[in-house]
Amino acid sequence: MAKPIIIDPGHGPHHTKAGMRGEDYDPGTGCTKEGTQYDEAKIVRAVVKSLIGKLAEADADIKAITTDECIGYVASGLIDNVVDDKTKSIALRQRVIDAAEYARDTCKTPPVFFLSVHVNANSNLPDAHGADIFYWNPQEATADWAFAENFMKNYLDYTLSFGGERYKTFIQGKRNLPDEVNYAVLRHALRQGIENSLLIELGFITNENDSAILCNEDDQKIIGEALALAVADALTQK
Ligand SMILES: [Zn+2]
Repeated sequence: MAKPIIIDPGHGPHHTKAGMRGEDYDPGTGCTKEGTQYDEAKIVRAVVKSLIGKLAEADADIKAITTDECIGYVASGLIDNVVDDKTKSIALRQRVIDAAEYARDTCKTPPVFFLSVHVNANSNLPDAHGADIFYWNPQEATADWAFAENFMKNYLDYTLSFGGERYKTFIQGKRNLPDEVNYAVLRHALRQGIENSLLIELGFITNENDSAILCNEDDQKIIGEALALAVADALTQK
């Protein structure tokens, strides 16, 4: 039986079904280059598409499910019980719940890994660049830190070997060590019983070098393939 994992392209379509509030589309961060708009939501979708294709080649036993394909899977009306949450965090929570439920139903086993893919931004610090990795599990902090560190190391190695020299500053953030952060998607992945959950910020759209790579289709493919191999490694090493 295939091992289900959940890949979450950060931002994008939200719930619009009756009983669920939400915007139609959350673009995330973004930039404009020569009149063309590059949204985080579109960049991470291109990366995730490449990730899923490469992962299928790398390990046929892993069944990658995206949160996009599961939106609205559980029409539980849970949203109505939490009136104080901001619209965004409700939608974030629901997409994790939906995907986890879908994974359990289709693979008859809980998802073993959750990865949310994002693009960073800091308009005040145009020099800020590089990838960052986040996890959240206060109970298993040491093990999760090591898991995140290992994942990041493999991802950076693959990215550099596929992308070459011009990726050097793209991947080298101020610090590539994992940070424990109580983000909604990570918190809800944990509540869904998913053993390991990570959120990766691929790079800064506000940095000239990073954004040249992030907005380039060939580079989006490379980043997705590097992520796929890091995911496959993370699951075989467990
Ligand atoms: Zn984001």
